[in-house]
Amino acid sequence: MRFSIPGEVLEALQRLNDAGHEAYLVGGCVRDDYLGIPPHDFDICTSAYPDEIINCFPNEKRVEVGKEHGTVGVILNNVQIEITTYRKDGPYQDNRHPEYVSFTRSLAEDLKRRDFTMNALAWHPYSGTIDLFGGREDCDKKIIRCIGSPAMRFTEDALRILRALRFASTFSFSVEKAAAFAMYEKKNLLKRISAERIASELNKLMVGTRPAEVFFQFPRILFEVLPLLEPMYRCPQRSVFHSYDVWEHTLYALDKTPSELAVRWAILFHDSGKPHTVTYDPDGTTHFRGHQQVSVRIARETMETLKQSKALTDEVCLLVDHHDDRIGPDNLQYWISKLGTETFFNLMHVQRADLLAHAPHVAERVTSHDALVNRAEELINSGACLTLNDLNIDGRTLIENGFNPGPFLGETLNYLLDRVINGFENNDKQALLSLAMKRLDEYNKQNNKSN
Ligand code: ATP
Ligand code: MG
Repeated sequence: MRFSIPGEVLEALQRLNDAGHEAYLVGGCVRDDYLGIPPHDFDICTSAYPDEIINCFPNEKRVEVGKEHGTVGVILNNVQIEITTYRKDGPYQDNRHPEYVSFTRSLAEDLKRRDFTMNALAWHPYSGTIDLFGGREDCDKKIIRCIGSPAMRFTEDALRILRALRFASTFSFSVEKAAAFAMYEKKNLLKRISAERIASELNKLMVGTRPAEVFFQFPRILFEVLPLLEPMYRCPQRSVFHSYDVWEHTLYALDKTPSELAVRWAILFHDSGKPHTVTYDPDGTTHFRGHQQVSVRIARETMETLKQSKALTDEVCLLVDHHDDRIGPDNLQYWISKLGTETFFNLMHVQRADLLAHAPHVAERVTSHDALVNRAEELINSGACLTLNDLNIDGRTLIENGFNPGPFLGETLNYLLDRVINGFENNDKQALLSLAMKRLDEYNKQNNKSN
């Protein structure tokens, strides 16, 4: 292993060995290390059965993580380590879970049940890497290859289809031909996988290094889990602004986004309403009036079906909703204030990617887009007034000057903020106070009249 392994993990391996058991690091951590990526967790597999594992850690605290499946969680020096008995899967029942798992003393059996060759690597400090299925060679060739018959492995557990696509995106690997064929053939089994598992794989795919390439190569598989995107496929866009159809445009744009989950989902959905709103001029020119709102509906329905978090869903829908809004130097402060800085810059990423995926004469506008983003950064760094907190007057000052606490006070502060943001007023305490007093006067007059 090239990356350092936490001392607690080495200690756990040693304790198991001292008691006469085999123990290895296995799966994702060995793969990541081989690929030069720092591992994010260290899984241990062992020939020891669960009670034997527990006996090796008599004084340590344990965490319940699934003893009946062979996994024991122990806490060493405040570090949680998961140790799993070598397992053999029984027959699979629902295209996802084996009917039962049985424990085995054979590492080879345990490695055989793993999905891809690159995920079946094991490592021990003394014996080095155990690689029974050519996982390292496949890593060198950047290939995702099933262990055993791809059709059988994807039928056993259809989630592996999405895991393959996810790894293809994160590692820029290609899927070996027979596996790709079987994935396509078995894609309808994805209907049986839970929304949460699908969402988790899709989210990892989306923030990978090349999601667009995966969508480009495997659209039919992805439409199984994202059916509302399918109408975009081959949907024509005939206008001087576009060089690509709606689906191609979407993927070119996706390719231009930074690895930011909400931005990438938003780009995927931004034009999904187009196939439902298309109209044609007599010469065949296409228009998609109102597609933005339909795209928002499609985004929301998809994200909710996938049981994505509300925060992510709302952010994606907001970005889709505003993807075509004109933001320029004249209304910059308004938009930053309206969206908040994080969402504002996410929207800038969406608009930039969208722009770059248009016809060349439109894509040229990216220069002024980038200048606008610089300007936004300057504006924020200069301490420009963007929120109520930045306003040089507060509720207490208004109360000292005759306002009563209540909704009218809040409305007035927001009114002052609006005036400043839109450039009608300077952020100056005296000027704002006299404006507020004028408003209070009118309010009192009106209320006295109606009494
Ligand atoms: P990640 O980087 O996301 O953690 P991972 O490959 O480690 O990737 P995990 O879900 O942590 O994924 O699984 C750990 C290991 O268990 C995998 O490397 C693989 O060997 C095995 N595994 C996980 N899911 C499956 C599956 N659906 N079918 C077969 N083996 C699996
Ligand atoms: Mg893992």
